[in-house]
Amino acid sequence: MNQPLSTGCCIAGGGPAGMMLGFLLARAGADVIVLEKHADFFRDFRGDTIHPSTLQVVHELSLLDELLTLPHEEVRELGAQIGKTQITLADFTHLPTRCKFIALMPQWDFLNFLARHASRYTSFHLMMETDVMDIVEEAGKITGVQAKTPRGPLEVRADLIVAADGRTSVVRAKADLPVQEFGVPMDVLWFRLSRKPGDRTQTMGRFENGQIFVALNRGDYWQCGYVIAKGQFAEIRREGLESFRAKVMRLAPFAIARQDELKSWDEVKLLTVRVDRLLRWCRPGLLCIGDAAHAMSPIGGVGINLAIQDAVAAANLLAEPLLNRQLTTADLEKIQRRREFPTRLTQSLQLMVQRRIIAPVLGEQKPVTPPLALRMFAAVPLLRRIPARLIGLGVRPEHVSVPEKSRA
Ligand SMILES: Cc1cc2nc3c(=O)[nH]c(=O)nc-3n(C[C@H](O)[C@H](O)[C@H](O)COP(=O)(O)OP(=O)(O)OC[C@H]3O[C@@H](n4cnc5c(N)ncnc54)[C@H](O)[C@@H]3O)c2cc1C
Repeated sequence: MNQPLSTGCCIAGGGPAGMMLGFLLARAGADVIVLEKHADFFRDFRGDTIHPSTLQVVHELSLLDELLTLPHEEVRELGAQIGKTQITLADFTHLPTRCKFIALMPQWDFLNFLARHASRYTSFHLMMETDVMDIVEEAGKITGVQAKTPRGPLEVRADLIVAADGRTSVVRAKADLPVQEFGVPMDVLWFRLSRKPGDRTQTMGRFENGQIFVALNRGDYWQCGYVIAKGQFAEIRREGLESFRAKVMRLAPFAIARQDELKSWDEVKLLTVRVDRLLRWCRPGLLCIGDAAHAMSPIGGVGINLAIQDAVAAANLLAEPLLNRQLTTADLEKIQRRREFPTRLTQSLQLMVQRRIIAPVLGEQKPVTPPLALRMFAAVPLLRRIPARLIGLGVRPEHVSVPEKSRA
């Protein structure tokens, strides 16, 4: 058994939400412990998109130039091929932000970057390989967590516990917070194919005959996503790898020469898509943020961005009461009040795209044609600024207002 630890804020989960919140609170002078169950950030693909509003936050922290020295691709427009029609869906070049593009960067590079900068503050502590298993509750208040580490069990006590442990949050489950789930018609299969000299550089999406395929440029390989109807993975596996490869090649002819790279199902990872939202994001002593408060659909690739925005809002509103040791449940409720509207609106738009565009394509065996709303984007370029704003900036973008108290 490790010695119990005591801190101002204990964050379960070192993903985008947890690392950004830990960084901002430590920068503001608060004592923070982030508990991350994995040994490092190098894991399976979990999304690569750093949106203009997140880049703006990094700029406000005076770290943008350094972040952009890391390998990344800059996506200024989002396009898709729907049937035979190529359409530009979003144009980020008019956004009122410092960066008018989405940076595609492996999430582990971004998390390592945040961890490196956070650890310049002496009040920031990141404990890897620390798996939160339970909460500690006293007289109706959550006062700590219990975790498993390679050195034995650990208890951390804190004025504030933050659940940033993602869509399968243990902390939110143990705190018994009510969740609203929304129906989702799809899952995604992720795999890699090599990128060769002469390949196009652009990230691409293709909708065709009951199938949807995306390929993200990751330098020396393509991160490929093949969208399937919900729960169909078992059947696709039963049909065999050969049949799956054939499906991919029909949508992505560049894969023909690389089909041997998909040697077994071990290389194909299933993302079970879910969309849900907590009815209450907090309890006395506990706040949930990021996917732990609201799992997002992959549409628009906005999950990381919303997680970061929650973290910025939480740091702005909670740093002072936390430092003064005067944090109340009313302070925690302010985060839900601020962030629930952007979350609701974004999820509603995602559910509409799933219903109107994704589900009909997945059920259709005939050639697909773009719906009228998407054809309008091709006809009137000005309209592409609307999805660009919703995806790139989001609703109610957050700005870092919490001052730096603790000098790095
Ligand atoms: C395959 C895939 C592709 C995606 N693509 C995109 C994309 O392109 N763009 C986008 O914006 N979003 C994408 N997403 C969603 C995005 O990854 C999430 O919305 C975002 O990461 C949420 O951040 P978070 O910090 O709230 O949670 P997470 O990123 O899930 O981080 C939670 C962290 O908590 C840790 N953890 C979990 N349980 C415990 C525990 N018990 N104890 C300690 N630590 C724990 C996890 O290891 C993880 O590091 C994708 C997700 C997946 C799975």
